[in-house]
Amino acid sequence: MVIDVVETEQIASLDVLRRIRLADDGYIVNAEPTGKALVHRVNAKCISPDRFNSNVVLKGGKQGAYYWTDTVSTAFRLYGATRCRVCKPEVQVVHPSGFEG
Ligand SMILES: [Zn+2]
Repeated sequence: MVIDVVETEQIASLDVLRRIRLADDGYIVNAEPTGKALVHRVNAKCISPDRFNSNVVLKGGKQGAYYWTDTVSTAFRLYGATRCRVCKPEVQVVHPSGFEG
């Protein structure tokens, strides 16, 4: 049996954003129209639902697009994203049980 490994997915609606945050797995890339992209923790406060709603839902993505990625290195490889200096997503994949609070 072959299992497809999903590395990335465009976050095109608030429902998708909610589902991804509930799963609490992976990272969110915010790609700006300028070509700059930042990778954030999936539940980082830097990604606000209000701003997401404004950029993606109301303005049709013209103010920036959001993508889920499985790892920081995928975000770098596919989108040239740099790590957000506010929420500091991990470079290494570390088991989450080591991080509480
Ligand atoms: Zn951030």
